[in-house]
Amino acid sequence: MKPMKFVAGLLLGGTLMLGAAATDASAQTAKKLWQLTSGTLTLEKTFLVANHASRGKIITVPVAMYVIEHPRGLVVYDTGMADDVSDGGCDAYWGKGLCSAFPPKQRRDEVIDQQLKKLGYSTDQVKYVIYSHFHLDHAGNIELFPKARHVVQKAEIRHAWWPEKWYAGAFILKDYDDTRKFNFLELSGDYDLFDDGSITILSTRGHTPGHQSLKVRLPKTGTLVLTGDAIYTPENAAGVPPGLTVSLEDSMKSIERLKDIRDASGGDLWYSHNMDQYNSHKHDKPYE
Ligand SMILES: [Zn+2]
Repeated sequence: MKPMKFVAGLLLGGTLMLGAAATDASAQTAKKLWQLTSGTLTLEKTFLVANHASRGKIITVPVAMYVIEHPRGLVVYDTGMADDVSDGGCDAYWGKGLCSAFPPKQRRDEVIDQQLKKLGYSTDQVKYVIYSHFHLDHAGNIELFPKARHVVQKAEIRHAWWPEKWYAGAFILKDYDDTRKFNFLELSGDYDLFDDGSITILSTRGHTPGHQSLKVRLPKTGTLVLTGDAIYTPENAAGVPPGLTVSLEDSMKSIERLKDIRDASGGDLWYSHNMDQYNSHKHDKPYE
């Protein structure tokens, strides 16, 4: 009997090892990623691309949000424009100055809670909400997620609450003034969200003092680098400085950093405010 027990023990040991290896492999990518709309903004192109050709050119750009399924939890990257701005509510919420400089268009059914609902999720099912930064078109709906863990650079929270006067305009304190008791994960630099290399937060300051981008690895698509406002458009990636930035030097370093990560990973850069690229992506189905 003894030798048989020994064989059984080996088999059991082998099975356990295989099981552990399979779990690790499946956790090294996220499962699915949706790129969703939070409507559009219309603005002079010089805010995004600081060159002569952009002067006086009025463009309409997408405002994107991302929902990511991972085996260990549901993740949102950026929450778009506040629900209050929907359906012509801008003047009463952002104020007339901002609404005429950057007229938004957003239907209530494009707000993140409704977008999640269309995918079969409630806001309470979201485990992590990650913010590229706290500008009005990226962190507008933080207060719809009281149960989530909110992932943001510590420098961004501090500057959003008390910005320098010259760049205070695009921070709407009302978007986050009820979040002091929220569950924040305050970062100072890069961070591997699930400790498996599948969703990596990249510090890309410049546009704001605590801007962060997101690298997502998917099983079929490969690596996507969601730049946030670190890179608005392909022109910025090609070397034309962004118009709106707190530190141009840091912005240019962050652009180079993201391009290096794209090249090293063989992945794609997904810009924040480029209509051509946005329209070339699918939005009714996830990337897998
Ligand atoms: Zn911004």
